[in-house]
Amino acid sequence: MNEYKISLMPGDGIGPELTEATLKILDVVQENFDVNLNIVYAEAGDAVLKKRGAALPEDSLKTIRESHACLKGPVGETAADVIVKLRLLFDLYANVRPLKAFPNVPVARPDIDMIFVRENTEDVYKGLEYSIGNDVTVCLRVITRQNCERIAKRAFETAKLRQKKKVTAIHKANVMRITDGLFKRVCQETAKNYPDIQYNEMYVDAATMHLIRTPQEFDVLCTCNMFGDILSDEAAQLIGGLGMAPGANIGDNFALFEPIHGSAPDIAGKQLANPLSMILSAKMMLHWLGERFNDLKCLKAAEGIEKATIQTLINGTTVPDIGGKASTLQMAQAIAAALKN
Ligand code: ATP
Repeated sequence: MNEYKISLMPGDGIGPELTEATLKILDVVQENFDVNLNIVYAEAGDAVLKKRGAALPEDSLKTIRESHACLKGPVGETAADVIVKLRLLFDLYANVRPLKAFPNVPVARPDIDMIFVRENTEDVYKGLEYSIGNDVTVCLRVITRQNCERIAKRAFETAKLRQKKKVTAIHKANVMRITDGLFKRVCQETAKNYPDIQYNEMYVDAATMHLIRTPQEFDVLCTCNMFGDILSDEAAQLIGGLGMAPGANIGDNFALFEPIHGSAPDIAGKQLANPLSMILSAKMMLHWLGERFNDLKCLKAAEGIEKATIQTLINGTTVPDIGGKASTLQMAQAIAAALKN
């Protein structure tokens, strides 16, 4: 039987509560689905910076390097020192964010089912900012053909496995003619290799509007780094908020799974957080492990988590954020119980 070493980073704010909740699910995955997970803690974030002087200490990096996949809670102010660094170090070029309406959750429409495939390593988030004197500042936007090709290919490959089979490339090539011009060109070139996938383009400002007006029409949204970051937070509000939004950072040889939201300090320690963002990230991790190592047990566990989640939501055991009264841990325990059955 395969053993998967998983580096687990609880993070800051609501991170430790979400982690405790998610471990309840992973316990059942190990016991009932015969998936062997060797979970090793890798600490990182604000609290670690305070305690040890580094937000991402060397020993944590070593643990992550030696693992098959990483599951991470949100970190606070040091997010850029942790996640941005990890994305670059492990070349996790695709940020995949599925956003779909679950039953019994306040959603804009029940037929929303979209997935962001967002470039994860360049654009204005590369951090190339400069001051020229006191009053002029500059931020460089880096867009490369290699990364456009990788993200466009990943978007079309994702669409191939979905029902709607549609890719929408989002850009602002009418204004940023060179950088988004390249992104747009590469998306169009890639589309030619996928004649069975419907392809269209949208300017980013129009996309923000269409996400509110006709969210059900989107399937796979292919974006550069910053637009994808902003649009996916907006889209999460259509399906019950950030607590419903899991994410994956995927490279060719490694992947890291984490909720799309931050550490939510306003609700930390109160057992109010929606654990689904991290439980569904763990589900994505099992699915990725299943595909990568050709392991049916992992794929079944991933499917089981989704079914148990739906059952729990239908039964009405939900946190206040999505209209219920349960605590973070109670909701996780209910999903764990449903998964056992
Ligand atoms: P950070 O500075 O770490 O990015 P933030 O509070 O500025 O944190 P987010 O953590 O991304 O930003 O979240 C914004 C708000 O969304 C939070 O203040 C919180 O009220 C809500 N939120 C985020 N995640 C969850 C969750 N899992 N469950 C319930 N509410 C959440």
